[in-house]
Amino acid sequence: MTSASLTPILKTSHLLGIEGLSVPEVTHLFDLGESYVAQSRAQDKKAALLKGRTLINLFYEASTRTQSSFELAGKRLGADVLNMAVKTSSVSKGETLIDTASTLNAMRPDILVVRHQDSGAAELLSRKLDCSVVNAGDGAHEHPTQALLDALTIRRRLGRIEGLTVAICGDILHSRVARSNIRLLAMMGARVRLIAPRTLLPAEADRFGVEIFTDMKQGLAGADIVMMLRLQLERMTGAFIPSTREYFRFYGLDREKLSFAKPGALVMHPGPMNRGVEIASDIADDPDISVIAEQVEMGVAIRMAVLDALARGLARNPTESRGHA
Ligand code: ASP
Repeated sequence: MTSASLTPILKTSHLLGIEGLSVPEVTHLFDLGESYVAQSRAQDKKAALLKGRTLINLFYEASTRTQSSFELAGKRLGADVLNMAVKTSSVSKGETLIDTASTLNAMRPDILVVRHQDSGAAELLSRKLDCSVVNAGDGAHEHPTQALLDALTIRRRLGRIEGLTVAICGDILHSRVARSNIRLLAMMGARVRLIAPRTLLPAEADRFGVEIFTDMKQGLAGADIVMMLRLQLERMTGAFIPSTREYFRFYGLDREKLSFAKPGALVMHPGPMNRGVEIASDIADDPDISVIAEQVEMGVAIRMAVLDALARGLARNPTESRGHA
């Protein structure tokens, strides 16, 4: 079967953020993701859905999980995958994003997956390129596939998202993961709480429609899911916390603080983790509590679902007719 013969899933030909997605679109992506979990667990993991298609990974920031899972997702669906080595390419010689875009355009990719330090970079590329663009993280703005894989992990573990209380804790200010998760979880009917010191909460947090706590024990009380975030030191322009030791004391997840959450609460982390800073090792490594490894598995599955969904759109709008002026 080719993507052309399948029912469309997404209205748009790009995935730039959770903003703009609808509940039926998300539910469809989850259902498709479930089928790709099964495919990824099978001995023969390969399908021909994206045969003949080219996927380019363009990562301006370091990535372990996201880049490799997009690569695996593309390959499992039969696409040719190119990982652009940003550090050794003209990009490191000062080529602008727009120049890079026109170079890439000439290579005629079908899907570009981009991670960039600036908010809005993926959206800019989507306007300049003829192919589908997937945002794999733009500054502190959005990281839609991370939120989708997190929500799919929750749905598989607890059977639903609606009505659950999810506490997102840590460096909310610099986190695109938090922003995408707040949007997605709220849209799917969860009750979202943010827990952070004032210095790591965005000024506009009051307008997110979530509950805000500066005390871990209060914020964790009765939570079904505890999502820990890394201190994003690379985005910090000054001193946001007195020391990492002190941070762990007040905001690091240990057994004592976790005991305030609902019994059996699940712990998540998008990675990379800083053990002993935002999370204690014995929690991160406890398979009865931590679903961190499952998040990685869902990452490949949901990215397969996203590539599949975008390919269905490509089939409706072949590259030749999508040219930009
Ligand atoms: N991997 C996630 C991101 O790219 C989270 C993190 O880096 O802390 O945003």
